[in-house]
Order: sequence, then structure tokens, then C-alpha cells
Amino acid sequence: MAKTSSNNQRNVKQHISHESGERALIAAIRSRAGRSGGGGLRLGIGDDCAILRPPAGHEIVVTTDLSLEQVHFRRDWHPPESVGHRCLARGLSDLAAMGSKPLGAFLSIALPPELTIREKGKSWLDRFLDGLLALADQAGVPLAGGDTAQSPSLAARGGMQSGLAAADIVLVGSVKQGRALLRSGARAGDKIYVTGNLGGAAAELLAIGRHPEKFAGAHKMQAGHPHLFPAPRILIASRLASARRIHSAIDVSDGLSTDLAHICEESGVAAEIDAEAIPIHPLALQAELDGWVASALGLALHGGEDYELLFTAAKGVQIPRRVASVEVHAIGQIVARRGRRPSIVLRQRDGKTTALESGGWEHFSAQ
Ligand code: ADP
Ligand code: MG
Repeated sequence: MAKTSSNNQRNVKQHISHESGERALIAAIRSRAGRSGGGGLRLGIGDDCAILRPPAGHEIVVTTDLSLEQVHFRRDWHPPESVGHRCLARGLSDLAAMGSKPLGAFLSIALPPELTIREKGKSWLDRFLDGLLALADQAGVPLAGGDTAQSPSLAARGGMQSGLAAADIVLVGSVKQGRALLRSGARAGDKIYVTGNLGGAAAELLAIGRHPEKFAGAHKMQAGHPHLFPAPRILIASRLASARRIHSAIDVSDGLSTDLAHICEESGVAAEIDAEAIPIHPLALQAELDGWVASALGLALHGGEDYELLFTAAKGVQIPRRVASVEVHAIGQIVARRGRRPSIVLRQRDGKTTALESGGWEHFSAQ
């Protein structure tokens, strides 16, 4: 239990109802956490710290991602399994973007008490863990620790309003010394590649917003749910990294336009991409056909949360068209940065070029 030293009495109330409640929750998580992980985890849940054993000659990589209710998910839109899946997927995708393999996941959760109550069979937390642990199993990453606290309910007119749920995931991974894929390695002349296709997550989110009830039953990691159950590209990334051909990489979390701009910025280069070459998810194409958005390409360029891999490699390097059964598309090239020229240029089908502004998601951007 985390403790703020000043007022222990009040502090105790902020944790899951009473000590046994928190203990019972942790015991339940522990019994489900499993031990898969290829021997990288020496000691998991139960002690003050976990002990990880990275392979010899490897470096440790660490990433943390916060999932906050009303910002990253909505209880009335996202099935709990999806919240758990996405929480872990975000961290795994960051590890993938470094070309690293996961060693252990650490989950800190703050939950209003009603999310831990089992009414008909399963609580919200049980189902959240179903989603998270299914992906953990698939990725071979053990849940190695975390922290658990109660989120206070908020007094509201006519009764008590639920507090907000939050889940923070820390992923620890390893990568061969000096082999991590960085944002800063792109060079003029590199080709730009992206895995899978883009815009699906944004398109599915639009659909959920219109008819959340249609998605309430989506509870398994299924293809066709790019927003609810994205597939982090761990395997592809580690294959590409071990082939030593990649100059730079990032995962598409904020949108292609924003994430490619990060590569350009960190590498001190500019980019040209071909509108025609961008792989657009069928759900994004459908959203355009249905008149929900003006352009499917817009969703693919700016939508975000696709968790595909965006990377660059020297022109002469052969990049397979499929890696680990996922398509890889060449979408443009890295060019030298010149004066006031925009850092990313989009080439249309007719050959005309336009500046591509970053249009992805950014917190605090309206303040
Ligand atoms: P401490 O007081 O040292 O923080 P806790 O009582 O919070 O210990 O946790 C006991 C053990 O349970 C630790 O190994 C911790 O990592 C693990 N743990 C607590 N909460 C979670 C959680 N939400 N998910 C996974 N492991 C957890
Ligand atoms: Mg603790």
C-alpha cells in the first residue's frame, strides 16, 4: 500500500474500503498473473519489488502509459476487456517501437469501489483483467507488480457520483546493446514504411460514439476492432530490429502526421509521403462512404491510436512486403530539411504537393 505519511487515518479510507479489500484484490490479481515470460522474471507479485533478469548483453527499456477514464476511455463506450487490452497494448506498442522484447508489466490502478464488486459473476475489474491478461499471455509478458488504490466517489446532486477509474501501465523490456530503434536515426534518402493499415481505430471510435450499444459485447481480442483491440507489433519490430536494417522507428499512437513529424524533428530531416501509397483501413473507407467523414485519407493521416509501426530504412535495403503475416507498405521518403520548407509534404495522385500539418491528438493543446 502506498502511504502518505501525514494523516494515516484519512489515508486508509482512500484505499479499497478496508485492508482486507485491497489484500483480496491483490491476491486475486496475483493468482491470475501467471508466470509466462521466458525466464526474464525472477520474482513477480508478492514482495516489495519484482526482480527482472535481462538477457546478457542487453539494455533495459522502460515506458509508462496512463489510461484515464473520460480521457482515454469511457465506461459507457468501452467494454472493460477493451480498457484492459488497450492499457497494455499502449505500453507494448512503445516497446515494439524500440525494437525491444517485454520482460515484465506493472499495473497501478485506482478504482471506485463499485468496479470491484462482483454482481453477476464478474466485476468490472475482473473483466478488465480478462482483457489485459489475454494480451499479456499472447505477448508472453508477465504481470510482475503494481499498486492498487481506491478512487473516491464524488458527492453529486441527488446522491453519490462514481469516482473515475485510472490505470497506469509500466512496461520493462530489453534490447540488444546498441540495437534499440530510435526516432532520431532517420537519414535523407531513407524510405518510409508503415505496417498494417491506418485510420481504422479512429473510424471504429466514430462508430462507437454513434451506437455504443453495438460494441458492448466486443470482449475478445478480435480482428476487426482496431480501436477496441489493437494489435501491438512486438514480433514484427523485433524481427526488423534483429535484421539491423532499420534507421528509425516510432509507433503510430497520435496519428501518422504527428508521429512522422516526431521522427523528422528528432532526426533533423523532412519527409515526403505519397497519398496514394498510404494503406487505409476498410473501416475508414466505409466511414467515408457512409458520409461520416469527408475523407478516409484524413482519418489515416491524423486519426491515431492505430498502434502500427512507422519506420525508415536506407533505400537499397530490402524490406519484405509481409512480416509476421502483417503487410508492410512503403509510403514515401525522407529528404533533407531545407530552410522554411514544411517538414512533411503530401504528394497527391495528380503530383501536386501540399504541406501536411500535424493533426493528431495532443493533450493541453487547447490551453
Ligand atoms: P507495497 O506496500 O510494497 O506497495 P502492496 O501491498 O501495494 O505492496 O503490493 C503487494 C504486492 O502486490 C507487490 O508485489 C505489488 O507489486 C503487487 N501489486 C499490488 N497491486 C497490484 C496490481 N494492481 N497489479 C499487479 N500487482 C500488484
Ligand atoms: Mg503498493
